[in-house]
Amino acid sequence: MDSGMIGKIEKGKRYARETDRVHVSYLRVNFRGEHADHIVAYDEGQWTCDCRSYQHRGLCSHIIALEQIFMGYVAPAPMPSAYLPEGMMVG
Ligand SMILES: [Zn+2]
Repeated sequence: MDSGMIGKIEKGKRYARETDRVHVSYLRVNFRGEHADHIVAYDEGQWTCDCRSYQHRGLCSHIIALEQIFMGYVAPAPMPSAYLPEGMMVG
């Protein structure tokens, strides 16, 4: 292997530890749920899922799981206002 490529590999390994360099702007994930498979997408802070829970509540277990997996790389989905304690507003 040429020395230039060795340098690139070393740099890549260093970058991998400097995670603040990385920002996920778009994700499309095939999620194997307990009852069915789902497609979850993330686009610059906006989460969507094709499951019933997301359609009804605007949030679901699939999105919550992916927030945990990609913590630090993506923005968390906002909690739907209907599920916040009485009188608490978002925004
Ligand atoms: Zn979902």
